[in-house]
Amino acid sequence: MTSAGPATLDALTAAVSDWSTDAADVAGAAGDRSGLLPDGAPRIVVRARSVAEVQATVRFAAEHGIPIVTRGAGSGLAGGAVAAEGQIVLDLSQLDRIVEVRVVDQVAVVEPGVVTADLEAAARQHGLFYAPDPGSVGISTIGGNIATNAGGLRGAKYGVTRDAVLALDVVLADGDLIRVGSETTKGVTGYDLAGLFVGSEGTLGIVVGATVRLLPVQAETASLAGWFPELTDAARAVEAIGRTGVRPTVLEIVDAATLAAIDAGFGTAFRERGGAFLLAQTDGSGAAIDIGRIADAARPYATAVEVAEDELLAADLLAARRLALPAIERLGRVLIEDIAVPRSRLAETIHAVQAIGERHDVRIFVFAHAGDGNVHPIILVPDSPEDGPIPAAAAAAADDIFALALAVGGTVTGEHGVGALKRAWAAREVGPRAARIADGIKALLDPHGILNPGKAI
Ligand SMILES: Cc1cc2nc3c(=O)[nH]c(=O)nc-3n(C[C@H](O)[C@H](O)[C@H](O)COP(=O)(O)OP(=O)(O)OC[C@H]3O[C@@H](n4cnc5c(N)ncnc54)[C@H](O)[C@@H]3O)c2cc1C
Repeated sequence: MTSAGPATLDALTAAVSDWSTDAADVAGAAGDRSGLLPDGAPRIVVRARSVAEVQATVRFAAEHGIPIVTRGAGSGLAGGAVAAEGQIVLDLSQLDRIVEVRVVDQVAVVEPGVVTADLEAAARQHGLFYAPDPGSVGISTIGGNIATNAGGLRGAKYGVTRDAVLALDVVLADGDLIRVGSETTKGVTGYDLAGLFVGSEGTLGIVVGATVRLLPVQAETASLAGWFPELTDAARAVEAIGRTGVRPTVLEIVDAATLAAIDAGFGTAFRERGGAFLLAQTDGSGAAIDIGRIADAARPYATAVEVAEDELLAADLLAARRLALPAIERLGRVLIEDIAVPRSRLAETIHAVQAIGERHDVRIFVFAHAGDGNVHPIILVPDSPEDGPIPAAAAAAADDIFALALAVGGTVTGEHGVGALKRAWAAREVGPRAARIADGIKALLDPHGILNPGKAI
């Protein structure tokens, strides 16, 4: 605790052990990594130490009609954890116990504040792994991953967070605690309420516990680095890889501008190798054969294809790919887009994104979880102060990118979520009827609108 709260917060501060109303503390917990600035100062940050403290916070908020913004690590890229004037920030990062890893059942039971990489490390000790591995794996929390339905580099084969979630403990908007889903691999009793809470961005309930699926570590893996004249060539290679029937674990592509940014930021020398980079990994007993088939499919489009014999080299390539976003962020303020398109439309989408950049005269860096068709066009916002308005050209380019995603049968957000930033485009994507259904679900679960209002829907 750092300072006494106003009188009306007394009932809350008496019920929780770790809270602060200190301006710097609260400001530090009010944002995420999207670049969206908080609209005023939240009133208090509560760092919950138990489920009972989460419940007490929600009951206080419900009684007084104060909105709650739940946060994990604040690594989100859609403004989902950005809090506004007078709100309560509920930080769950202290609820970080891995309760158990059940080897026979191949599940882990975790608290929401567990850092994703820590779960992965714990599972590995038992010969298992946790598949969803966002680029932010070293900082993001499982609760945040569940709330955003995070994807990751292994999504091409193993899917997204929703595929890993079996059961959830959720604190509802009135403070009650419920369990949804089933700890068993199979389970179809009733509606899929666990699936409903996954990706709901803190707007329907607060995830305070999760049972997640683990998978056995594959004995064999193989990796390949491909170099191409242009990103569209790499995208065409991805389409050709799709025709082989091989399902790679990882299939990532990175454009020339991003390679140059990684080199400038981290002292690597990727850009001189080519105008685009493709990283593929396979696993399982046929890993070496599969990587050979991927190499054959990619070769006609590539200037070089190298199967990485060395596991350490493969790990380095993966680490370099994870540096893409931080490297671009070093160059200035960015708009981080996150469209997903059918894989068969990847090359044309990337070509169109490049044309959008030229048309609006803005720099757009592009890298993609190509196996998922999930493209990240990152718009560098020229000469714009952190808190200044987005220049019209950058905003127009973002608009055109969203329109493009929908035009090719894709979605405006593949993994980062709608948050506060993409609501208008999300509404356009889902249409009025589905939007009304979503509003009805929200009204049922959060009738007074205290859970992360103004986000997701
Ligand atoms: C360098 C970098 C790389 C990234 N790479 C990827 C990537 O590959 N794939 C990807 O999907 N994302 C990626 N992200 C985005 C981000 O890491 C993910 O969205 C992540 O899931 C957010 O987790 P968090 O714990 O930081 O959540 P936060 O940012 O704290 O919160 C995100 C949202 O979840 C809600 N929330 C958080 N915890 C809970 C809870 N327990 N119950 C209910 N609601 C909750 C918040 O209210 C908010 O709406 C990346 C981010 C960075 C900075």
